[in-house]
Amino acid sequence: MSTSHTSHAHETVVWHQYSIDKKYRAKQKKQHPALIWFTGLSGSGKSTIAGALEIKLAQLGHHTYLLDGDNVRLGLCRDLGFSYHDRCENIRRVGEVAKLMMDSGLIVLSAFVSPFYDERQLVRESMADGEFLEIFVDTPLEVCEARDPKGLYKKVRSGEIKAFTGISSVYEAPKQPDIHLHTDQPVDMLVEQCLAQLRQAGFITLSH
Ligand code: ADP
Repeated sequence: MSTSHTSHAHETVVWHQYSIDKKYRAKQKKQHPALIWFTGLSGSGKSTIAGALEIKLAQLGHHTYLLDGDNVRLGLCRDLGFSYHDRCENIRRVGEVAKLMMDSGLIVLSAFVSPFYDERQLVRESMADGEFLEIFVDTPLEVCEARDPKGLYKKVRSGEIKAFTGISSVYEAPKQPDIHLHTDQPVDMLVEQCLAQLRQAGFITLSH
């Protein structure tokens, strides 16, 4: 908490610009740093598709990092819960970490439910033009629940989990995602769809 004797960092700290910068590191890696943001219900296929896409990007020679919702919540955001405030703080931190990774020249993929339009918009607006791409993994709730890869829907139905996105907490679907995926197609076809659109939008330039 701030008192009259303390100041906020933004009042006293000045960004230090080093010689080895984002442009230098990006050139070294022969790629455009970017954030590829997957959003969708739990069990929709975000981690599966992001993981498969990352393999393809790595095979093409790209340098990547996949920020996974569960993994981040086990570490960086272990102090956060699932209230509206905590969900927004979770995504704010992820956006900041992604920015550091992009500054290091990486193509970052992220797999977070990220149910609220505003939080996704905040991340998008904090990125430069052409650095953020939103992928909506559009899988019907019934399909996600039938898959239930982590047994979470079962726990929701038995009352063990409260405030679960899609059931007792809202999911605001993107209205104009950059890529709209329907998972009634096999994963490798969805990955090809992503690659084609990433190429077309100039996000990736390397090819075999
Ligand atoms: P999320 O990260 O969105 O919570 P996961 O990727 O962890 O979802 O789980 C999705 C589950 O659905 C996995 O068990 C995956 O094998 C399965 N699945 C079946 N078909 C598809 C598909 N076409 N795309 C993605 N996942 C699929």
